[in-house]
Amino acid sequence: MHNSACPRIQEYVNLRPFNTLRFDVAARYFAVARSASEIVALLNEKTVLENDIFVLGGGSNVLFSTDFNGIVIKIEIPGKTVIFEDDDYVELAIGAGEDWPSVVEFVVSKGWGGIENLAMVPGTAGAAPVNNIACYGHNLHESLVWVESLDLNSGTITRLAVDECAFGYRTSIFKKELRGRHIVVRICLRLRKNPILNTSYTSRYESVYGEMASLGPPPYGVQDVFRAIVNIRKRKLPDVATVGTVGSVFMNPVITAQQLKDIRVKCPDIHYYPAEHLIYGDNSNRDDTATGRVKIPAAWLIEDMGLADKKIGQCGIWKTQPLNIVNYGGATPGEYLEFLKMVRDEVYERYAVTLDPEVVII
Ligand SMILES: Cc1cc2nc3c(=O)[nH]c(=O)nc-3n(C[C@H](O)[C@H](O)[C@H](O)COP(=O)(O)OP(=O)(O)OC[C@H]3O[C@@H](n4cnc5c(N)ncnc54)[C@H](O)[C@@H]3O)c2cc1C
Repeated sequence: MHNSACPRIQEYVNLRPFNTLRFDVAARYFAVARSASEIVALLNEKTVLENDIFVLGGGSNVLFSTDFNGIVIKIEIPGKTVIFEDDDYVELAIGAGEDWPSVVEFVVSKGWGGIENLAMVPGTAGAAPVNNIACYGHNLHESLVWVESLDLNSGTITRLAVDECAFGYRTSIFKKELRGRHIVVRICLRLRKNPILNTSYTSRYESVYGEMASLGPPPYGVQDVFRAIVNIRKRKLPDVATVGTVGSVFMNPVITAQQLKDIRVKCPDIHYYPAEHLIYGDNSNRDDTATGRVKIPAAWLIEDMGLADKKIGQCGIWKTQPLNIVNYGGATPGEYLEFLKMVRDEVYERYAVTLDPEVVII
């Protein structure tokens, strides 16, 4: 890798603009890397060698519980390059710092299919495989070809094919074995020129196909799916520009068939989904309990308990998506964590189900 000038390392930087919960916390050191070689240059700096590193994308899945007494390296590596194309597919390599919602808009504007269901998921392309972002029936890994990451020890870049990344529900090798050891620098998506639309997602309150149908008659294309999902998300989720949020703060619990049976005594209609293949939609004719484990919507439990509009101080549950616990403005990380604990404890007390955080707590 060729040498690159080292980015400036700033001191005592307020992270409020860099985390979507809008907490007023500071980083002892802070630097922005715009290429893999800038990361390598930083790694050779004394300040970086002597301090803990936290890799930051868009800060939309991170909860800084206090000031960070190390160096935050914010990844802003740009780039969108078509590296392969034939009659059926396009392979698009994307720099880790690209804004994910803008990547989706770009892909949809070309008419390429694959990631339209992942519209409006805030954050960067580099963080997307870390958590294997998913929504409205599509998981990122279904559109990925490979992920390139930089080994913090050797400074070299490794390319992992999609099946080497240990993807699962909100997880990957980058969140487990390679956590803190590798930084994602580039990802590659395989997109269809003749898209196959996935509009089967339904929940208690919404359906992708229903939303599309309300916008106009078939035939439908990727733009229609995109528009439908943007509409649903705008209606349902807080606006990151004005409300402190990290989206779903807890993961949906994966439970045993016996736990499901017990929960159904109190909450008879609750939906459940297969835990292994991450399919959403009408599962009413499936017997997923036969496989032993199922995933249930945590938001449903919170709503069923009557907590959906709970607010204490500036922390509260977002009524139309109760897994969103928001900072209305001015809440401290301590107050927010207290609120999370209250919700977690109450859910456990009523349903004997543990809610694990989806947000990364630092
Ligand atoms: C309103 C809202 C709605 C959301 N909806 C969804 C949704 O529908 N589906 C979904 O899956 N998620 C959703 N999320 C969560 C969030 O958008 C994703 O987790 C996103 O991928 C986070 O990206 P980021 O760049 O902001 O990551 P950050 O918050 O900056 O970082 C998250 C984690 O990834 C690590 N990381 C970041 N960049 C890199 C990198 N280049 N290399 C290695 N590690 C890295 C960080 O160290 C941290 O551990 C939502 C969030 C919000 C605020």
